[in-house]
Amino acid sequence: MSKPRPPLSKELQLRVFRKDRWVCRWCNRPVIFAPVMRLIELQIRRTDNGQPLSYYDAHWTRNGAPLLDELGAVIDHVEAHSTGGSSEEDNLATACCKCNGRKSNASMKKWGERPQRKPIKGKYGEPQHWDGLSALFVVLAEQDVSTLSASERGWLKALRKGAGNAD
Ligand SMILES: [Zn+2]
Repeated sequence: MSKPRPPLSKELQLRVFRKDRWVCRWCNRPVIFAPVMRLIELQIRRTDNGQPLSYYDAHWTRNGAPLLDELGAVIDHVEAHSTGGSSEEDNLATACCKCNGRKSNASMKKWGERPQRKPIKGKYGEPQHWDGLSALFVVLAEQDVSTLSASERGWLKALRKGAGNAD
C-alpha cells in the first residue's frame, strides 16, 4: 500500500508549469492548462445554443475532450511518489496527459529505457511565450466569476498572484 499522495498546491503546480515553460518534460510537446477548456466551451455555449462540443470533459476522455486527453497539463513526480519520490519542486515536472499515463509508477530507470519518440525540435527554436492558454483562462474567468467552481476560483487567484514573475 502506498501512502496517499498529498495534494499539491495550485501555486506550486503553476511554478512547475512555468519553470518548464508549459512544455512536457518527457515528449517536449506544448501542454494546455485544462481549466481553460471548460471556460472556452461555456463562452461558445453563450452565443451558440446547444451545439455539442468536445472541448472539456471532467475526465479528459478522448471522446469528450480529445485535446486534453493528449495535451492536458499535469504534474508528474520524476521519481514516483509510490517509490519514495518527494513532492518537492525539484522532483516535479510538467507532463502532458499522455506521457503521465504511460509513465505512471515506472521508475526513472525503466522510464528512461522506454522506446523514445524523436524529440520534437522546431526549425525556429523552442516556444518562448507559450503559457498553456493560462492567460486566456484569466480573461474568461474574470468575465463572470460567479460561474466558476471553487477550484477554478483557486486557479484564478493563483494565476493572478504569479502574473508578474512568469520567468
Ligand atoms: Zn508528453
